[in-house]
Amino acid sequence: MTSARSPSARADLAVVGAGIIGLATAHRYLADHPGRRVVILEAEDRPAMHQTGRNSGVLHSGVYYRPGSAKAELAVAGRSSMVEFARQRGIAHEVCGKVIVAVDSSEQERLAALAERAASNGVPAEFIDARRLAELEPYCAGVEALLIRGTGIVDYGAVCDALIGEIEAAGGEMRMGTAVVGLSEGADSVRVTTTTGELVAKSLVNCAGLRCDQVAALVGARGGYRIVPFRGEYYELVPERSHLVNNLIYPVPDPSFPFLGVHLTRMIDGTIHAGPNAVLALSREGYRWSDISGAQLREHVTNRGLWRLARRYWRTGAGEVWRSLNKTAFTRALQRLVPDIESSDLVRSAAGVRAQAMDPDGELEDDFAVATAGRSTHVLNAPSPAATSSLEIAKMIVKRIDG
Ligand SMILES: Cc1cc2nc3c(=O)[nH]c(=O)nc-3n(C[C@H](O)[C@H](O)[C@H](O)COP(=O)(O)OP(=O)(O)OC[C@H]3O[C@@H](n4cnc5c(N)ncnc54)[C@H](O)[C@@H]3O)c2cc1C
Repeated sequence: MTSARSPSARADLAVVGAGIIGLATAHRYLADHPGRRVVILEAEDRPAMHQTGRNSGVLHSGVYYRPGSAKAELAVAGRSSMVEFARQRGIAHEVCGKVIVAVDSSEQERLAALAERAASNGVPAEFIDARRLAELEPYCAGVEALLIRGTGIVDYGAVCDALIGEIEAAGGEMRMGTAVVGLSEGADSVRVTTTTGELVAKSLVNCAGLRCDQVAALVGARGGYRIVPFRGEYYELVPERSHLVNNLIYPVPDPSFPFLGVHLTRMIDGTIHAGPNAVLALSREGYRWSDISGAQLREHVTNRGLWRLARRYWRTGAGEVWRSLNKTAFTRALQRLVPDIESSDLVRSAAGVRAQAMDPDGELEDDFAVATAGRSTHVLNAPSPAATSSLEIAKMIVKRIDG
C-alpha cells in the first residue's frame, strides 16, 4: 500500500474507495483482465474503515428483498459466492442459520408474507412452532418463527484482507490517504484529481459509500440521488450472558421501514451484538450524536424528501431516537425477543453509519443503484446486504465497464 504523493499517472481502472465493494470490484477486474493496471484511491489511511469495517458480519440469505430486485438476486448469488470465497481461503465463517420470530399472533400474518417472499426469491425457509424455536433458541420468546438455515456469519475484515492480498499480488496498487476531489471526463479517459496527485484512467468506478453521491456529482452523475446517513447503534451482551443467544434472532420487520429492526447477532468471534436502531446521523461519518457537520445539517434541513419521511414515520423515528438516548428503552426492544435480557447485561459497542440513498422523488431507494456516465460507473446505493452481495455486485460492475 502507498500513501506517498505520486505524479500524474495512467491506469486502466481507478477505483474510488477501499470498502468491500471497491475491493471486490478491483479484484474481479484483475481476475478478468490479468496484467492491466488498477489503482484504488482511498481517503482514509486504512481500508474498510467505514460501513465495511462496522457491519454485523451477517451473510444474508435474500429473504427480505422484492422478488426480481437486484438485492434479491445478488444476495442469493452473493451469499453462495462469499461462502465459497471464505471456504477456499480458510476465512472464518459459519452457516449457522437464523430465526425470524413472531412474538404474538398479530405478527404471524407478516411472517407468512415473508415466507412467500422467501419462496419467490428461491430461499429455503421453514415455519417452526414455539417448541422447536425453544430447542434452537431456549431463551427466545415467540409463538412461531421462520427458520432460514442458509444465513451465516463471516469475518468481513478477513475477506477484505484476502481481497487486498490478491489485488496486490496481481499488480493492483492501493493508494491510502488519497481522497478524490475532482473528476473530469474525456473522450476515452477520466482525469482524477486527488489530494496526493493526478491520475488518468481509462475507466473509473465510484465505490465511495457514504460519499458516493458527492463523488458522482463531480461528473454530474448523481442523477438526483443523495445519501442520507443513518446511524445504527449497538450494544454487546456481557460474556457471562452470551448463552442467552445461540445464533441469529431477528424480529418480523416493519415492511414500511427500510431497516430490519433491533436484532441479536452472534459475531464470528463469539460475541453477541444487539441492535441496531436507526437514527439520522448528523454527519456522513457521524458515529456519535456529537459528530455534527454544518454542511450535513444544512443538507438535512433543505431535504424536502426527508421532511416528508419524517412526517410519515415520525412515530417510528421518535422511537428510534428514544432507544438511542435511553438504554432501558433499547433493552425493552430486545426483551420482546429474549425476555431474560436485562439492561445490566448490555455494554455499548461500536456504531455504524449506513449510506442509504434517497431517490430523485424523495423516497428511500429500496434497491441497489448503479449509474454509468461516460467512462465512469457510480455505485449510488449499496446498503445491506451489499457486503454479502459484494462479489456479485463486482461481477455486474465489471461487465458494465467491459460494455
Ligand atoms: C451498521 C451496519 C451493519 C451492516 N450489516 C451488514 C451485514 O450484516 N451484512 C451485509 O451484507 N451488509 C451489512 N451492512 C451493509 C454493508 O456493510 C455495506 O453495504 C458495505 O460495507 C458497503 O461497502 P462500500 O464499499 O460500498 O462502502 P464503505 O465500506 O463505506 O467504503 C467506502 C469507502 O470509500 C472511501 N471514500 C469516501 N469518499 C472518498 C473519496 N472522495 N475519495 C477516496 N475514498 C473515499 C471511504 O473512506 C470508505 O473507505 C451493514 C452496514 C452497516 C452500516
